[in-house]
Amino acid sequence: MTILVTGGAGYIGSHTVLYLQEKGEEVIVLDNFTKGHYDALLNTTYYEGNLHDDELLDKVFTNHSIDSVIHFAASSLVGESVADPLSYYKNNVLGTHHLVNKIVEHGVKRIVFSSTAATYGEPDSIPIKEDDSTIPTNPYGETKLAIERMLKWCEDAYGLKSVSLRYFNAAGADPESRIGEDHNPETHLIPIVLEVANGQREFMKIFGHDYATEDGTCVRDYIHVMDLAQAHYLAVRKLRDTKQSGVYNLGNGQGFSVNEVLEACRNVTGRLIPAREAPRRPGDPAVLIASSEKAKQELGWDPQYSELETMVQHAWNWHKEHKDGFIK
Ligand code: UDP
Repeated sequence: MTILVTGGAGYIGSHTVLYLQEKGEEVIVLDNFTKGHYDALLNTTYYEGNLHDDELLDKVFTNHSIDSVIHFAASSLVGESVADPLSYYKNNVLGTHHLVNKIVEHGVKRIVFSSTAATYGEPDSIPIKEDDSTIPTNPYGETKLAIERMLKWCEDAYGLKSVSLRYFNAAGADPESRIGEDHNPETHLIPIVLEVANGQREFMKIFGHDYATEDGTCVRDYIHVMDLAQAHYLAVRKLRDTKQSGVYNLGNGQGFSVNEVLEACRNVTGRLIPAREAPRRPGDPAVLIASSEKAKQELGWDPQYSELETMVQHAWNWHKEHKDGFIK
């Protein structure tokens, strides 16, 4: 029984591949390597290509006895999605349509889908629960929500079981520092702050300091990437054991402000890390915190690295040794 991981060379994908392998699962990866890294795969078997390539998908499903698919491959930058929504509909919605079509054609019955907190838009209340309203405020969230809904209808029509995992803010790196986070361009808070600590940027910008939060900066729910990986493994197991589909939030349940993240980075790195106040980033809600009770109860999810300083420490261990990220 092999698990196909699409987008397995990306940040969350590669950590999930590593986690699955440590649990004894057979894994293969499909990635187009526009954002993913060869070096993030360590020694995993991979196929290089796009989800739109039906011939390649046929080859993958024919060459391997795939029992489940974990689907990460997607475009995932909010700002880019606002500037170029059509490319997001193409890569995310149409790409997944091709993939699911082949999943159904080849008789695979399980898919775990990488979704996002961006499906909610402005939260109704905090902490956010899975049945709160979903009104995305950007095409990225909109395309992920469209896929969640497509999967629901595919269950009714074709018996395809699915778990959609809505991540909050992925952070940290493999505790053994074999792989880490490397985006180009980098837009995420923790790696940007660590680039300042590494002397690669002069200062970091705090986007907005007049939010209705305790210290005026945005509050987010940071969750360790290996804890996300664990949830994917548990989701596959749940689909194998119970055949029950579901949608789950994955977050820490506690929020940290931009200032708190900055302070944690200063403590962990022992570096000064200059910061400047900057205007708000358009579209940023003040507070996003998940309720992850459902994932804990139904998947048996048990996050191991909930301390902010642990996440920053693991990220820093990798970043300070890989200033230029992955080489390949
Ligand atoms: N942020 C910031 N400076 C940066 C990058 C991010 O102040 O250089 C803030 C951003 O406004 C948000 C939080 O840090 O409130 C987390 O942003 P990130 O892009 O990491 O994740 P998001 O919450 O957008 O998914």
